[in-house]
Amino acid sequence: MKEPRISTKAIWAGEQDYLAFGATQVPVVHSVSYGYDDMDEWYDVAIGKKEGHIYGRNTNPTVQAFENKIRILEGAEAATSFSTGMAAISNTLGTFLFPGDRVVSIKDTYGGTNKIFTEFLPKQNIEVVLCETGNHEAIEAEIAKGCQVVYLETPTNPTVKITDIKRMAKAGKQVGAIVIVDNTFATPVNQNPLELGADLVIHSATKFLGGHADALGGSLCGPKELVEKVYHYREINGATLDPMAAYLLLRGMKTLKLRIDKQNENAMKVARYLKTVDGVESVYYPGLEEHQGHEIAKEQMSGFGGMLSFSVKGGVDTVRHLLPKLKYANRAANLGAVETIVGPTRTTSHVECTPEERAAMGIPEGLIRYSAGIEDIEDLIGDLEQAFQSLPEHLFIQR
Ligand SMILES: *Cc1c(COP(=O)(O)O)cnc(C)c1O
Repeated sequence: MKEPRISTKAIWAGEQDYLAFGATQVPVVHSVSYGYDDMDEWYDVAIGKKEGHIYGRNTNPTVQAFENKIRILEGAEAATSFSTGMAAISNTLGTFLFPGDRVVSIKDTYGGTNKIFTEFLPKQNIEVVLCETGNHEAIEAEIAKGCQVVYLETPTNPTVKITDIKRMAKAGKQVGAIVIVDNTFATPVNQNPLELGADLVIHSATKFLGGHADALGGSLCGPKELVEKVYHYREINGATLDPMAAYLLLRGMKTLKLRIDKQNENAMKVARYLKTVDGVESVYYPGLEEHQGHEIAKEQMSGFGGMLSFSVKGGVDTVRHLLPKLKYANRAANLGAVETIVGPTRTTSHVECTPEERAAMGIPEGLIRYSAGIEDIEDLIGDLEQAFQSLPEHLFIQR
């Protein structure tokens, strides 16, 4: 039979071995440990000679079903999971970086990731080089000087900048570096970093994979040899995905393709609408022809994603008036859910940064991140229209 397509995979893949009792849905196994009457069998499972489970910090059947599904969606040989997306990132970097090592990344990574790079890794005598996002020549030049890890995120949070994965993976390979891509914004529906040459792909499953903003989780996919090392680091350090969260993420993933298709469509229409609005200064969306990374995005993505951002005239004052007026949007820090979510970048993804750090990253204080939900587009645009119309006039001419 032909390889199933992505929607079919999202629904069926990875679950078969875990459907105990004839259940059609993966059961949530809450048991912390697994008992053995046969001492030899117990030993064989404990040393990994025989399949099975020993203790919940290491493995769990519900969690494994989740790992299987994301592994198949990313087309990877192996996958492991974590309690959060940040645990996926910190455990992966912790596995492969040692004192004296060098990591090359970009300035625009997720706020938490940026903190690992600027606050924690340097304390371990790991050299971190953060390049201008989108300046491929500069990144290549830094990679060529030698590094153990190349860490990318594309599209980035919040100005949705694009990095050419194929090109950076090639540069990384030349110096023997492990190339890691955070694929949270794109999801496997829109982008497959492994196919583009990356070694490892990370997700905050909390966002689009789960899609319902009711479970935290993270994942790592890639070749068995690398994923096993990170699994070992995680099983010892303890950032294990909870079985109930794994179940919620699995359930959410069944509708991944439907949701992402709708979010791609809604984000594009909202971006085009925002460009026509007087009070809007700039709109950032890779689907817009004038966007910095549009050409590369067209090459490496099959959809432009559900995330966009825009800056408003009048800065923080306008944001303060505008966002509370929206009826069909949660004003919250997360993204990638079925509901539309908005938030000022200075309060959400980059709250850990100082205003100076944000300015250095090219993030205006009046920037709004918009995570398109799956609502009817007429309602989303109507909602934005009434919110802009209700703004006091003076705000637009203040600057
Ligand atoms: C949210 C997010 C993370 C962190 O994930 P958590 O599940 O919140 O720990 C990492 N990368 C990106 C791009 C994100 O959006």
